[in-house]
Amino acid sequence: MTGHNSRAPVLPGSAIGVLGSGQLGRMFAIAARRMGYRVHTLSPDEDTPTGQVADVEINAPYEDLAAVCRFASGVSVVTFEFENVPAATAAAAARCAPVRPSGDVLHTTQHRLREKTFLSRTGLPHTSFRRVSSLEELATAAKELGLPAILKTADFGYDGKGQFRIRDANDFEQAWRAVGERESVLEAFIDFDREISVVAARTIDGHFVHYGAIENHHRNGILDVSIAPARVADGIARDAIEIARVVLEKLDVVGVLCVEFFVTRDGRLLINELAPRPHNSGHFTFDANLTSQFEQQLRAVSLLPLGDVTQFRPAAMGNLLGDLWNDGEPDWITAASVADVKIHLYGKTAPRPGRKMGHLTALATTAEQALRDMERARKLVH
Ligand code: AMP
Repeated sequence: MTGHNSRAPVLPGSAIGVLGSGQLGRMFAIAARRMGYRVHTLSPDEDTPTGQVADVEINAPYEDLAAVCRFASGVSVVTFEFENVPAATAAAAARCAPVRPSGDVLHTTQHRLREKTFLSRTGLPHTSFRRVSSLEELATAAKELGLPAILKTADFGYDGKGQFRIRDANDFEQAWRAVGERESVLEAFIDFDREISVVAARTIDGHFVHYGAIENHHRNGILDVSIAPARVADGIARDAIEIARVVLEKLDVVGVLCVEFFVTRDGRLLINELAPRPHNSGHFTFDANLTSQFEQQLRAVSLLPLGDVTQFRPAAMGNLLGDLWNDGEPDWITAASVADVKIHLYGKTAPRPGRKMGHLTALATTAEQALRDMERARKLVH
């Protein structure tokens, strides 16, 4: 019998359950179906990016623990593409099937305070922070950390109202309201040189692979462009990979995890946050690497050996946000005329501003050329 603590590999033909139903689950499902697996997805939504590709789409709130258990009972392993599911959901799933990565990994990484406490305890570099649970504590924390600073909700699940940049003491009240007057973290503002990430995978036996340092550029707090390899000194990339290795090991991750970093102007690495799943900055691996981050997640959670991560050529990825639809449907025919740029669309029907609708990936002989090719195609989409 294969109980849910079983170390028996989950073989092709088996069903894999995905909690969450966005584009990460969609690309996971594509990778899984390519290898002959079946995919079930559960989320509160219908006609979802993942559901459109999956074999079974279950529509239930994450709080419906009976539905979650039924869902888990119908698959050989449960993974997730959305880490903000309640702890009780992961626990309910774990009673009925193995959950990988474990609910403990979710618990730590879905809450900024727990995540930063883990990083402190493990001796890993991160932005300085203070816990804030009242307006008075905010004033004290700001005095200790200095301004500017960023106030962020401790849990990630607070619709878009999660962050506020504080310039001076006049901003305290507005900031406190902006985070919903709830437990938060005040972070020192980092005047960074660059942002990078490392996407890595780890097996149940501790085998670790990574996709190198990826360079990330944000716009309005949303990832805009990723470039791989990152244009940073070799030593910085090496250190970032080593930090990622320690994070996956200490959290005992079985699956994929992304570590996001700030590179300071004096060349130090500070962890910004952890995402215990494939990450937007790793989307280029779908086209640019022998084994994508999604197939790696599949292999890790199914207890198969990991695949080769060789990157064929330097790559650049650019997100396509809902704003592109402001003047009607983008021009896909012209975009498709850039024959060497891959167009990915997630099947979302409502293009709200800031919503991730798809992305473009370009491969070239240099990262700079890939970036230029991607940007040219993205302009043509308008
Ligand atoms: P987060 O959702 O916390 O990853 O923040 C999104 C983006 O906001 C980051 O990728 C940075 O570009 C910016 N940001 C967040 N925290 C800080 C900080 N402490 N200092 C400077 N920029 C930040």
